[in-house]
Amino acid sequence: MTESQDDWKARYKGLARENERLQHDLSEQQKRIRSLSGQLVVGLRGRNSALDADLDQLHQLLKNKQGGEGLDKVYRDIEKHVRRLDAQHQSVARDIRVAIERWLAQLRDLSHSESFSNLLKNVERRLPDTSEHLYKLSSLLLEMIELQKGLLPAIKDSDLPAFSLSGTGGDDAVDLELLVSQIASEMLQLIEALNVEGSGLELARGLIQRIEAGLKATDIPGVMSDLVRLTRLSAGLEHQEFENYLLNLNEQLTFVQQFLAQNHSDQQQSYLVHQQLDQRVRQDVTKLSHSMRESQDLQTLKRAVASQLRSIMQTMDEYRQREDERESRMQQRYESLLQKVDQMESEAARVKSRMEEEQLRARTDPLTGLPNRSSYDDYLRKELGRWERYGTTFSVAVIDLDLFKMINDRFGHLAGDKVLRLVARVLRQQLRGSDFIARYGGEEFVIVFPSTAVQDARAAADKLREAVISSPFNFKGEPVQVSASIGITQVVVGDDSDQLFARADQALYAAKGQGRNQVVCN
Ligand code: GH3
Ligand code: MG
Ligand code: MG
Repeated sequence: MTESQDDWKARYKGLARENERLQHDLSEQQKRIRSLSGQLVVGLRGRNSALDADLDQLHQLLKNKQGGEGLDKVYRDIEKHVRRLDAQHQSVARDIRVAIERWLAQLRDLSHSESFSNLLKNVERRLPDTSEHLYKLSSLLLEMIELQKGLLPAIKDSDLPAFSLSGTGGDDAVDLELLVSQIASEMLQLIEALNVEGSGLELARGLIQRIEAGLKATDIPGVMSDLVRLTRLSAGLEHQEFENYLLNLNEQLTFVQQFLAQNHSDQQQSYLVHQQLDQRVRQDVTKLSHSMRESQDLQTLKRAVASQLRSIMQTMDEYRQREDERESRMQQRYESLLQKVDQMESEAARVKSRMEEEQLRARTDPLTGLPNRSSYDDYLRKELGRWERYGTTFSVAVIDLDLFKMINDRFGHLAGDKVLRLVARVLRQQLRGSDFIARYGGEEFVIVFPSTAVQDARAAADKLREAVISSPFNFKGEPVQVSASIGITQVVVGDDSDQLFARADQALYAAKGQGRNQVVCN
């Protein structure tokens, strides 16, 4: 009997240890859930302020390792927000679709040729998909602009009261002003439908002002290209993966909730089973001592004890079996959670690096690898801010290659491109690391010299000019002479970016006037 008792004790202790281990595993899982939720916080942030507040709260709860009802509530709130964002997305998609459909109708009215209407049909076919996936919108709009351009070359002078698209006049004559104002109103609706925020707002406002001030037909291509930029901004990050990533977050959120709920109920169940075991073992032991007291003879006592012990063993075996099952269920769920976390981690890392690549590409000039004009705009805005706040002066230089058209004409456009790449490299090499250079456009570069007064900027610019003229450019063995003119100005109180650039540009113009290959300050 002593042996059986020891056996029973050992089993009971074993189970207690196992229970402890399970509790430990559970806290491991909590850690994993925290990590997964951390991913959600990163992925969802910046979409709307109420959601951000909830995400902050989630972040705090996770950081303080709090769980329970607080966590449940935050999850429920976040889910609500995600659903609302999805609904918003749907409604933006609908508005955009309506606006583009109207625009297509305008285009359809412009021409009745079969090939044109086939082209329009092709655009129309892709419209539902495009309005769902905003990142595709810019390419569709570009196509529409191209189609529209094909129809508009007849528009030379917007003062013409009317023009005839078919050239026959009469019924086919289109009132140009009316047409332009219709296009303008479609554009305004499209801008509204795009629902841009953040950095796009300024562009959207400017665009609306331009359109409302009255468009001429010849303004349309310029306005269109701004519109395309705006759609890019409103789509936020341009690639599909990011959009899909956001959509998937909803699913991931549900998964975490289910996991929490299942574990919770399993834990409760385990507690109940544990209590039952305890009760039944206590009952059996009571019965056992009872039998011992009551038994008249050793035989009966032996039988009674044997039967009670069997019952205890059976109870414990059942318990162990249930716990094993519970553990394997938990193990499975745990593994699939791990998988999900890994998946999300690598997905998030991939999306992040793609986003960075994308952002870099959007700010880089592909021909020279230098920052592009929009990058210059951003840089200058910051530099002007520093100047206003702290009075740190700076100078700006505009560099324009001399008679570059002749180089293109003489050696071809490819040679021209090669020269542009080489000049960019020469300029970059000559500059200090803290100087900022961008390709402004065409054969024009712009440099910001931080903390530099105009005299010092002039000296630096002269070095640049020297370096360009003395660079041995060759194309197919033939030497190509390249020189540059440079206009410089220093920032003054009250300057905005346009005034500053205009002054440097005037100096550049003077340098050209003085025979090129010159540096002029203004
Ligand atoms: P100036 O000295 O007055 O500046 O004369 P220019 O010929 O350089 O000036 P203009 O503005 O008349 O011509 C600029 C030329 O630069 C015309 C255009 O073909 C060429 N260009 C602009 N961008 C590129 C480019 O990306 N590649 C090549 N190959 N040529 C370009
Ligand atoms: Mg030029
Ligand atoms: Mg030039």
